[in-house]
Formats: sequence, structure tokens, C-alpha cells
Amino acid sequence: MADREFDAVVIGAGPAGEVIAGRLASGELDVAIVEQHLVGGECSFYACMPSKALLRPSALLAEVKRVPGLSVSDELDAAKVIARRDEVVHDYDDSAQLPWLEDMGIELVRGEGRLDGERRVVVGDDVLTARKAVVIATGSAASMPPIDGLADVGTWTSREVTSARSVPASMIVLGGGVVGVEMAQAWSALGTTVSIVEAADRLLLREEQFASEQVTEALREHGVEVHVGAKAERFSGGNGEPVRVELEGGGKLEAEHLLVAVGRRPLVDGIGLESAGIEPDGPLQVDDTMAVQGSEWLYAIGDVNGRALLTHMGKYQARVAATNILGGEARATRDGPNSPRVIFTDPEVAAVGHTLASAEEAGMDVRAVDVSTAGTAGASFHGRNAAGTSRLVIDEDRGVVVGATFVGPDANELLHAATIAVVAEIPLHLLFDAVPAFPTRNEIWLKLLEEYGL
Ligand SMILES: Cc1cc2nc3c(=O)[nH]c(=O)nc-3n(C[C@H](O)[C@H](O)[C@H](O)COP(=O)(O)OP(=O)(O)OC[C@H]3O[C@@H](n4cnc5c(N)ncnc54)[C@H](O)[C@@H]3O)c2cc1C
Repeated sequence: MADREFDAVVIGAGPAGEVIAGRLASGELDVAIVEQHLVGGECSFYACMPSKALLRPSALLAEVKRVPGLSVSDELDAAKVIARRDEVVHDYDDSAQLPWLEDMGIELVRGEGRLDGERRVVVGDDVLTARKAVVIATGSAASMPPIDGLADVGTWTSREVTSARSVPASMIVLGGGVVGVEMAQAWSALGTTVSIVEAADRLLLREEQFASEQVTEALREHGVEVHVGAKAERFSGGNGEPVRVELEGGGKLEAEHLLVAVGRRPLVDGIGLESAGIEPDGPLQVDDTMAVQGSEWLYAIGDVNGRALLTHMGKYQARVAATNILGGEARATRDGPNSPRVIFTDPEVAAVGHTLASAEEAGMDVRAVDVSTAGTAGASFHGRNAAGTSRLVIDEDRGVVVGATFVGPDANELLHAATIAVVAEIPLHLLFDAVPAFPTRNEIWLKLLEEYGL
């Protein structure tokens, strides 16, 4: 058993863990990072990166078809798309991440980390003691709902669906949230017959109604069967046989694979939280400094604290926590459900802040202004004639934008200006002076403000 001391010990080398380790090491702290699987975490190998590698070719093909003068094949080459996905995930090998850790002087400890009392982390036979802080950055895994037969049919989660080696013939997707719709889009474009089963009355429930409708329509045009208001009651088959699902009210579906995409659970079990007096029951509760329950030495960042299950927000929390551990003062105040978010379907949905409904629920006096995302000169070159709506949600009392949603091809490019407007609460009269360049799609801001009456 080796007993070693560091200033800080980070458990989990996903994006949140890596960023905090880097920040602390740049601040001259002696840092160890513990990883039980791949350095880079879920995001690099089984989530953000492979899913976007699978989605990009079909989005690009759709865009190319919108531009007159180009002749391209109608078909995607699935084998090449999968090979490119493998390249993006470095064939599930994390060695490309290691030189950076070494250059930063961060000690990588391979294995499963577990808290063992105050400031102590055990990894196999190693005991790592932290002089200043232990940071939990263990992330999340797919949730499994308690539905009859589900545990026995051999389901896919985000891991299997992003790493599949060949195109499945058919797939049922349980859950019409972000992971469900992205994977439905990616694999149907590659040739899979996909059915989505969503219990709520629409896909992408947290987003604007028009975003749900436009994505649903596009998925249906791509041949995806979308069942909303459909409750899965019983599963059977699987394990080499087709998986069957019976829906409440009598419908039945059958497919080669079943993807379960109904949400995430924080990885808090088996990591020794009890030894620090914490009984894990859901996400680790943190304050705005990212300290766990007022602790002076224990922090939790990324998916495990449940505040915003997004890579960029976990990295923001990492910067906040690092500042505090290094003796500065920082508070995360913008990492809740209104964080900037992008759903990489075709059309994309890019949103930040409130939807009209969530602003009204929060008691604000708001007005929504809507225009067509394709309604600018720039959009005659990018996303030409494509469907999609853009909306600003404006707080009438304060004269600021509190929410924005853009639906359309590559809508993500329009998002950061909205994030700045929402976070900085820029008064509308100043947005009037922020002139977007012609002919870019950013003129959507001009259209939206004109629609508002400015
Ligand atoms: C299919 C899919 C697509 C997504 N796409 C996007 C996207 O496009 N953009 C976006 O912002 N977000 C996306 N997300 C969400 C994003 O993946 C997560 O928010 C992000 O990975 C969280 O980062 P993290 O560092 O908290 O945890 P993770 O990335 O989950 O990393 C945690 C790490 O901790 C390790 N670990 C866990 N327990 C232990 C232990 N006891 N000891 C040692 N190591 C341990 C794990 O092995 C893992 O490497 C997507 C998610 C999914 C499922």
C-alpha cells in the first residue's frame, strides 16, 4: 500500500475533472486525478464527441442538397461514417490525452477511487491524502426505468448506441429527450428503421413547443416513427431475438435493438461518501462555490451534482471550484436548467435561458417575438429555405432578453450572442446598436428586434 500526499485529489477524469485538475495545476498545486476507465470521460468516448461525429455527415448532406450547383450522392457511406466516429474517439484509447497531463505535472492514478474519510481517497492499494481538497467529478450513467421486462431484454444505453460497430436494422428509442432524438436522427440517416416512444405529449419537452414540432416533423420526414403520449408498459424478447414493447392502450412495436434514453443518474454509489458523513440520495448537493454541503474540503462538479448535465457547464463549474480552492472567490450562478444548450438534429435547436412557458411560470411579464430562421440574406446561402423558427423571450418590465431559441440548420452558430445578451442582461436599446454584419445569418437579431418594434 502506497501512501501519498497531494494538494488536491480529483476523482473522475471527464471534462469537468480534467479542467479542474488543469486549473489547479496551473495554480501551482500538486494534483492527482483518479480515473477508472478512459481519461476524457463519457463526453469524449461515449457521448458528445461520437454522437456529433455520427450526426455531422447527414446534416452536411442535407445542407449540400440545399445549395444549387452541387451534385452529390444521395447516400451516406455508413462504413466511412463509423470509421470517422472511431477516429474521433481514438479507437477508445485515451493515450492521446496523457501527454497533456504529464506536461501539466498532474499525476494520473488508474483505478476506482473511493473516499475514505476526510481528505483521503483510496484507489486499490493506494491511499491519496489531499492537503486542500477532494473533488468528485464522477459523472453520470443512463437511468433504467422500472418497466416490466425491461431489465431482461438486453437494452442499449448511450454507450452502446454511440459505439455501435455496424448499422442496426431497426431500433426502438425509449425517450424523446436530447439523446433519444439525436440518436434517432443519426442512425435513421445511416439506414436504421427507428421508432421513438415518448410518454409525454411531445419530444424535447423542456424546449419551446415549436422546436418540438419542427424536430418531430423533420424526423418523420426522415422516416422515423414518432409515438408521443405513448407509455411503454411491457418489454419482452431481446438477447438475440427482436425486442418487443407493448404500449399502454394496445400498440406493439418490435425492433432489433432497444435504446433506453430516459435520463441520467449521478454516479454517487460506491464512492465512499458515507465516510464523509454524506448519505447519497440523488445528485450531490453543492452550493454555488461547488462545495458539498458547506464542506471546506469536498467539492462536486459536472453531472454528478445534477445542476446542468452539459459538458460546457461542468467545465464552468470546474473553473469556479478551482478559483475557490486556489483561495479566490467565485460563484456559479448560471448553470441551471437555463444554460445554453444545443440539440444537434437537422434542424438543430439552440437555446439559452427561458422558454416562453418557463418565463411565465417564473412570474415574469414576457413577450415572445418569432421570425423565420431562414429569413435573412445570409440564410439564402446557409440553410437556404430550411424550416425553423427563431424566438426571443423579452422581459417587458426590465427591457432585456431572458430567453432565446433558434431552430434551423447550424443554429448553434447563432447561440453565443444570445447567451451574452441573456447572461449580461443587455438592455434592448444597446442591442439596437449591436449591428450584425451583412450578409450573415446573425441578421436574425435585426429581424427579431424589428419584430419587437425597435
Ligand atoms: C449521448 C450523449 C451525448 C451528449 N452530447 C453532449 C453535447 O453535445 N454537448 C454537451 O455539452 N453535453 C453532451 N452530453 C452530456 C455530457 O456528456 C456530460 O454532461 C459530460 O460528459 C459530463 O462530464 P463529467 O466530467 O461530469 O462526467 P463524465 O464525462 O461522465 O466523466 C466522469 C469520469 O469519471 C470516471 N469515474 C466515475 N467514477 C469513478 C471512480 N469511482 N473512480 C475513478 N473514476 C471514476 C468515469 O470513468 C468517467 O471517465 C451528452 C451526453 C450523452 C449521453
